[in-house]
Amino acid sequence: MMAAASAAEAGAEVIIFEKNEKLGKKLFITGKGRCNLTNACECEELFSNIISNPKFMYSAINAFDNRAVMDFFEKAGCKLKIERGNRVFPASDHSSDVILTLSNILKQKNVGIRLNSEITGLSVSEDNYITGVILKNGKKAEADSVIIATGGLSYKATGSTGDGFRFAEETGHRVTKLNPSLVPFECREEYCSTLMGLSLKNVSLKIMDDKKKLFEGFGEMLFTHFGISGPLVLSASSFYNKRKNDILKAFIDLKPALSEDVLDKRLIREFEVNGNKEFKNSLGALYPTKLIPVIIAISGIDQYKKTNSVTGKERRRLLEITKRFPLTITGTRSFDEAIITKGGISVKDINPSTMESKLIKGLFFAGEVIDVDALTGGFNLQIAWSTGFLAGENAARVTEERI
Ligand SMILES: Cc1cc2nc3c(=O)[nH]c(=O)nc-3n(C[C@H](O)[C@H](O)[C@H](O)COP(=O)(O)OP(=O)(O)OC[C@H]3O[C@@H](n4cnc5c(N)ncnc54)[C@H](O)[C@@H]3O)c2cc1C
Repeated sequence: MMAAASAAEAGAEVIIFEKNEKLGKKLFITGKGRCNLTNACECEELFSNIISNPKFMYSAINAFDNRAVMDFFEKAGCKLKIERGNRVFPASDHSSDVILTLSNILKQKNVGIRLNSEITGLSVSEDNYITGVILKNGKKAEADSVIIATGGLSYKATGSTGDGFRFAEETGHRVTKLNPSLVPFECREEYCSTLMGLSLKNVSLKIMDDKKKLFEGFGEMLFTHFGISGPLVLSASSFYNKRKNDILKAFIDLKPALSEDVLDKRLIREFEVNGNKEFKNSLGALYPTKLIPVIIAISGIDQYKKTNSVTGKERRRLLEITKRFPLTITGTRSFDEAIITKGGISVKDINPSTMESKLIKGLFFAGEVIDVDALTGGFNLQIAWSTGFLAGENAARVTEERI
């Protein structure tokens, strides 16, 4: 939609082919129905939140950055508000207003919209110029330039079924490995399901790939019946590229604000105060209730022994579990639960200044179909807006040249 608006603004005659019965099905469910459409951070911060190929995004973000996105929507009558972490939402809290704003702009610019119109392939001349798209009904729609903005593979019911990856491969482009990202992790330990529903705030999570640290972050996470989820875990998944059979170790620091020395003193104090209680009844001030039986089980300390008889070695084990609560990550949940797709059309085959294919003249790419992804906070939609805007401008230019 952004690519179409930008191409029309630059003077091109534009048609959107959308296979769904309406536009913006995925946009509708973004930000839990509120659409976190960008992030009002400093421009450099946009790049530090882009995990795969941030350098590829320089021109696109320069052409249409977060301020430009906010101006674009505000000028079109969609009032915005900025929340915690600079996350930008429509003031109404309705993602439908973002879709409505875009739809109104498309109407004003006379963009043709063909709903229920699935594209099944691209039409390319022998000398590698795009000549149009092939539709499911077998007809060819001719075009001087084509922008592929078919999204990734997550939440297939919204229409993103990975068709663009196939179109790109069929026309000689490389597609990097596709993985679900911003997605919960599955863990081997049975105690995850015991802890289901327990949310941990202000904890630190570290993920190790053998001896290499893959991720370390601070925030909020959640246990589920299959493993772990929550904002901290989704961020961690951005740094994970699944290889066959790989198993990662994860450690939760339940008391990141306390050094080991300070925590040890705290344990000693708690044990003194609760000396005559059974060990299992002495931990209430230290851990959430649901976690206590699991911590005791991992520690191997007899839960019925008097707290004043817990040995120094046992206390040390408790400290170790508190600072490094262990989990084994066996993989991620599927694309059905992933916010985005990691991987996509290789940036090596796309000109970053125009979003045009380096292989097929007049063919452009925009959005999640490209091998660029970012953390949560409005950054993935910013990628879609920026690449869409740049692709639209340049597709219009190519169209003009070819007329
Ligand atoms: C639950 C959820 C919440 C999210 N929340 C946020 C958020 O708050 N902030 C944020 O920045 N990001 C968020 N994202 C990510 C964001 O939605 C995507 O990165 C973004 O929508 C990608 O835009 P796109 O235009 O590239 O692809 P999409 O939005 O997936 O759009 C692709 C469109 O192409 C159509 N299409 C596909 N194949 C064909 C075909 N063969 N023929 C015709 N049409 C076709 C599809 O039907 C679809 O309408 C969220 C994602 C999910 C799943």
